[in-house]
Amino acid sequence: MKALVYEGPERMELREVPVPDVGPGEVLIRVAYSGICGSELSGYLGHNSLRKPPMIFGHEFSGIIEKMDKAAEGTGLREGMRVTANPLITCGRCVYCEAGMASLCPDRKLLSAALPGSNAEFVAAPAAFVYPLEDRVSLRDGALTEPAACGIRVAELAAAGPGDTVLVAGMGPIGLFAMQAVLRQGTARVIATDLSEERLAYAAELGALAINPQERDPVEAVLALTHGRGVQAAIDAVGAASTRRQCAAAAASGGKVVFTGLHQAETTLDINDAVRRELKLLGSFAYSRRNFEDALASIAAGKMGLGDRTTVAALEDGPYWFDKLTRSPGKEIKILLNVGRLEGE
Ligand SMILES: [Zn+2]
Ligand SMILES: [Zn+2]
Repeated sequence: MKALVYEGPERMELREVPVPDVGPGEVLIRVAYSGICGSELSGYLGHNSLRKPPMIFGHEFSGIIEKMDKAAEGTGLREGMRVTANPLITCGRCVYCEAGMASLCPDRKLLSAALPGSNAEFVAAPAAFVYPLEDRVSLRDGALTEPAACGIRVAELAAAGPGDTVLVAGMGPIGLFAMQAVLRQGTARVIATDLSEERLAYAAELGALAINPQERDPVEAVLALTHGRGVQAAIDAVGAASTRRQCAAAAASGGKVVFTGLHQAETTLDINDAVRRELKLLGSFAYSRRNFEDALASIAAGKMGLGDRTTVAALEDGPYWFDKLTRSPGKEIKILLNVGRLEGE
C-alpha cells in the first residue's frame, strides 16, 4: 500500500509498504481522509521524542472497514461500514482507564506515535476503539471527531458557565473546537485570538469576539472588556510562551487557565501572581472515551464542525504540506489528506 512515512527530521516520503496485519480483535480500515495534526508538525521537525522514524503519522481519520479479525465479530462492526476511530489505544484495566480518564493510561499507545497511523491506504485498530459514522456524517467531517474530542475535553476542564467570559488563544482546530464546546455550555462571551485574519474571521462567524495580537494587546483587550476583572477561564490552544503568559495574565482572580497546546516544552510564568490570585492552572491532554463519543454525536447533530473550512489535499502532496505548515502557520485551518478517494462521501 501507499503510505506517507516519516523518515527523520523534515523528511516525509511517499513509499510502498506492507498492508498492516490485522491482530486479534482488530479491524483493518481503508482510509478515506486523514488530518494533519499540529502535534505531528513538531514530530516532523524532530522535536517529539515519541515520534521515532520510520513512522506513519496520522491519527484523525475516517474510512471504510475492509477486513475484520474473527474476535472483532459481534461488536456491531461489519465490513463496508463507514467509521472513524479513537486513536488513543489504552489498556482498559488500569486505575485511570477504570475511572474514565483513559488519556492518562500509562500504557496508552497513539496511532501515529507508538503505532502506525492513518497517512496510508490502510490502518489497523482494535474494534473497541472503532466507531460507525451515522449516515448523515460525511467521511470528511467524520475525520474531525478526534480534534473535536480534544476541544470538548478542554471545555470540560474550563467548566465555564452562563455569564462567564472565556479567552481562547489560538484558532487552529483545537481552539475552534474548544470555543464551540465552551459556547455550548452557555458561556456568555468568548474572546478569540490568532495571528491569521482568515481564522479570526471564522471565529467571529462562530460567535467569538476576535482579537489579533498584532493589532491589540490581548490582555489589555480582555481587561477592558471585563471591567478590569479578567476572564473566568483562559484556554491556551497554541502552547507558545507568549500565549501561555497572556492566558495566565488574562484570567480573573480565582479563575482557570487551561493549557493544551504543546508547542514549547518550557515556559516561565509569574507563579507568585498565580499564588496571590489563586489561579487554577490545568493541563488538558487528549480526551476520555466519553468525550470522544460526545464529539461523534455533536458532529452528527451539526453542533460541532469546521464547515467548509477544511482543505483537502492528495496523499501524494503530504510532504509539501508538512513542509509548508512547519514553515509558516498560514491561513489553512485543517489539511485533510484524501487518501482513498472513496465514493459516496
Ligand atoms: Zn491530533
Ligand atoms: Zn489504562
